[in-house]
Amino acid sequence: MAFEGLAARLQDTLTKIRGKGKVSEQDVKDMMREVRLALLEADVNFKVVKQFIASVKEKALGQEVMKSLTPGQQVIKVVNEELTALMGSEQSKIAVAAKAPTIVMMVGLQGAGKTTTTAKLANHLRKNHNRKPLLVACDIYRPAAIKQLETLGKQLDMPVFSLGDQVSPVEIAKQAVQKAKEEHHDYVILDTAGRLHIDETLMKELTDIKEMVKPDEILLVVDSMTGQDAVNVAESFNEQLDVTGAVLTKLDGDTRGGAAISIKAVTNTPIKFAGMGEKIDQLEPFHPERMASRILG
Ligand code: GDP
Repeated sequence: MAFEGLAARLQDTLTKIRGKGKVSEQDVKDMMREVRLALLEADVNFKVVKQFIASVKEKALGQEVMKSLTPGQQVIKVVNEELTALMGSEQSKIAVAAKAPTIVMMVGLQGAGKTTTTAKLANHLRKNHNRKPLLVACDIYRPAAIKQLETLGKQLDMPVFSLGDQVSPVEIAKQAVQKAKEEHHDYVILDTAGRLHIDETLMKELTDIKEMVKPDEILLVVDSMTGQDAVNVAESFNEQLDVTGAVLTKLDGDTRGGAAISIKAVTNTPIKFAGMGEKIDQLEPFHPERMASRILG
């Protein structure tokens, strides 16, 4: 299960302080040393850990104790609030353009889960927001990516726009938006190509698509299993593309949690959705507060 190690360690540490009727500065320091180690072990970015610890210490030590809580509970409350804030505080919603269609561009490394998430997102928009999305196959390089999206489209009974693998993705995106307007689709979701590593050609293609269709939302799909790498990838994509949100995939796996906890703080990009499995309905809006509670028990 995701966050298992981190959750166990943090809960263990917090249990020690929970019942305390009096919490000394030393108690908080001792606890935070353990929290720090637990976060680092979960592959949370070290700068993020440092800032988190400083901010919890400051708040935990500076606060008046609320009457309804024991000092121990108070400290735990601060940890919970700060962890929530670190992951973005509020649920961050997907963009809606003032004038339809809303154009969403999915970007990320190969294997992160872009194609799957494209279909999941379309399903989510139709099911929960009554939208009529058009899926667009812009990944012309990965063998079978077009086919994969078409298969998912069939499964959803949703149209997939494709011009094969001989037309440039920029042109495909442009024509897809035109078609969406003609056929009154209110969302266009572009499944773009990924690479195993970030390279200039990939970025150039993505910036070209961005310039051509001016997306309302650029969602970076990141594999939460890749920890710190995921955060570095997010930084690079963000520098070039100014992404507007992230989707963390594979949170159903046994990720240590570092990516989920660091991405918002490092890139200032809100996590909008979480992939919770391979199935098409396993995409959930990301709730920082629920995630923090899940980690802290
Ligand atoms: P792309 O190369 O970025 O388009 O990646 P794909 O969409 O082809 O996904 C790569 C693999 O990750 C596939 O086997 C997916 O089924 C799997 N996958 C994607 N999202 C999730 C998720 O949230 N949970 C799990 N367990 N697997 C996922």
